[in-house]
Amino acid sequence: MTKQCERIRHEGMRQYGFGVEVMKAIKVCKTCGKMSDSSNHFCQECGSLLPTDSLFERYKQLHRCCAECQTVVSDNTLYCPNCGVKIKGGINYECKTVI
Ligand SMILES: [Zn+2]
Ligand SMILES: [Zn+2]
Repeated sequence: MTKQCERIRHEGMRQYGFGVEVMKAIKVCKTCGKMSDSSNHFCQECGSLLPTDSLFERYKQLHRCCAECQTVVSDNTLYCPNCGVKIKGGINYECKTVI
C-alpha cells in the first residue's frame, strides 16, 4: 500500500488524472497532505483523523471527470485517458449527480 501511494504523486495527478478505483482507495490527510489507504482512520504521518471522503470524492469537487467512466481528469484534458471519450463542460459538469 505504501508503494501504491508513492507511485501516485501529486504531479502525476495534475497531469493525467486517475482511475476511479485507485482514487477511491486513497484518502488525503487534511493536516499534512499525506495520502493514506482509505481503510485507515488516522494519518500515519501526523496522527490526525482522516476525512471520511476519499480522494476521489474530494478531487471530483475540484476537477472535471469523464461522463462515461467517472475517471477524474485535469482541467486541460480534452479526452478521457481511460475510455477516450471527449471531456466536456467545466468543473463538476457531468459528475455531480452520479454515484
Ligand atoms: Zn497527516
Ligand atoms: Zn472515461
